[in-house]
Amino acid sequence: MTTIHWFRQDLRLADNPALAAAAESEDVLCIYILDDINAQSWAMGAASRVWLYHTLDALNKTLQGHLHILQGNSKAILSELATSHGIKRVTWNRCYEPWRIVRDTDIKTTLKDQDIQVRTYNGSLCWEPHTVLKNDSTPYRVFTPYYRKGCLRATPPSLPIDSPKITHANLKPKQACSLEDLNLLPKKDWHQSLIKHWQVGEHAAMQKLEAFIDEGLHQYKEGRNFPGQKHVSRLSPHLHWGEISPRQIWQAIQSIALNDNTDHFLSELGWREFSYYLLYHFPSLPEENFQAKFDYFPWRNNKRLLQAWQNGSTGYPIVDAGMRELWQTGYMHNRVRMIVGSFLVKNLGIHWHEGAKWFWNCLVDADLASNSASWQWIAGCGADAAPYFRIFNPVTQGEKFDSMGAYTRQYVPELADLPDKYLFKPWEAPETVLAQANIILGINYPKPIIKLAQSRQAALDAYEKVKKASP
Ligand SMILES: Cc1cc2nc3c(=O)[nH]c(=O)nc-3n(C[C@H](O)[C@H](O)[C@H](O)COP(=O)(O)OP(=O)(O)OC[C@H]3O[C@@H](n4cnc5c(N)ncnc54)[C@H](O)[C@@H]3O)c2cc1C
Repeated sequence: MTTIHWFRQDLRLADNPALAAAAESEDVLCIYILDDINAQSWAMGAASRVWLYHTLDALNKTLQGHLHILQGNSKAILSELATSHGIKRVTWNRCYEPWRIVRDTDIKTTLKDQDIQVRTYNGSLCWEPHTVLKNDSTPYRVFTPYYRKGCLRATPPSLPIDSPKITHANLKPKQACSLEDLNLLPKKDWHQSLIKHWQVGEHAAMQKLEAFIDEGLHQYKEGRNFPGQKHVSRLSPHLHWGEISPRQIWQAIQSIALNDNTDHFLSELGWREFSYYLLYHFPSLPEENFQAKFDYFPWRNNKRLLQAWQNGSTGYPIVDAGMRELWQTGYMHNRVRMIVGSFLVKNLGIHWHEGAKWFWNCLVDADLASNSASWQWIAGCGADAAPYFRIFNPVTQGEKFDSMGAYTRQYVPELADLPDKYLFKPWEAPETVLAQANIILGINYPKPIIKLAQSRQAALDAYEKVKKASP
């Protein structure tokens, strides 16, 4: 009997329960379908498409050329493929985006009606959202009790499983196309410089985990706040695409001596789980404020300010460094994601939707669960969010977390020669200091696009009004 294994966000062989189940049959037809027609505004962004191109290429190599690539309506493709080849079983690992849940449920019903077995598995989480509820059977809304009580105390993550031995089916779907036919790479050559920052695929993901354990983890708890240091794992795109599973990471960390750093790292994986949990139980998370009182917030619609933020030309060096890191590498350090997010929403007064959309297009780890939950968190309207009045000051954040300026100077090279004292507030530098550093504000580096103190006060005033106006 042949089984179809439908690869989705599980682009790996190890710890892939659906693939392992498929491999138990006589032979397996491994397929990937590019199908985000139903995702609407959450169709894959440009950076995600670039990553997908490279990860499919890597997976195909690992499968020795046995990955069949298709494009179009998944339901029609699976149904046709199974009936035309007399295939009676399909396996996949579950996804949790609301549009995918609707689509997959429909596919499952259709295939079952055609007498085709569908077997689905958990390939991307330590704790599936429907398995964790409070005593009163409602979902958690606060991270700590969710993670400590709902997850850790209830069940440890299951152990990862080995790569299966696969016998590949000797057939080629007639609708199969080549990787190039998917047109994933944009015409502009931006993608070539972006991908140079990454090694893509299952093997690279495991190597990155090992390097992080050797070199970064021992100072994670403190070091994770400093964008110029190498104390974060940069595993997020590998996790998003399923090149590595959270259970593999969990197990690797558990097998070394546990301490504050390992605990903290595991709790960040916990935040990823919590984001999926929120998206599953509150499927409007990408669109609607989790706290409804923010529906009354007077957001500003200002294209000029939005574009300055997107281009990394706000005149606030740490913000500009982060936005340029995002554009150049498809990634941004978490501390800087928080700084630029707070700046957009609270200082510029622009809706968090605009930030989430821009990140969606530019991040190689763009993930509907983590992106939506994190934007709501930084905007103050999310579950267990930072209080609205916590407004990051981009000057003091820069001075504290990039005090030697290595990160900022890397991405904003026009400020490279400015002394540390003025690096995060060039407008305060005396003319002679600016001249020595070859900086002419407003010419080769922007003047600040807003005033910090005024915009901060405006945000706090708006919040006070919202609090009073909301029912
Ligand atoms: C405004 C904003 C938008 C974000 N958008 C995304 C997104 O689209 N995709 C995404 O994966 N993460 C997102 N994050 C969360 C976080 O910034 C990234 O997961 C992290 O920076 C990835 O880098 P790392 O792998 O080096 O993290 P590490 O510090 O090494 O953490 C290990 C893993 O834990 C998970 N993790 C860490 N922090 C968080 C967090 N706050 N929330 C959820 N999971 C976390 C990630 O899977 C990460 O790979 C966002 C954060 C903010 C503030």
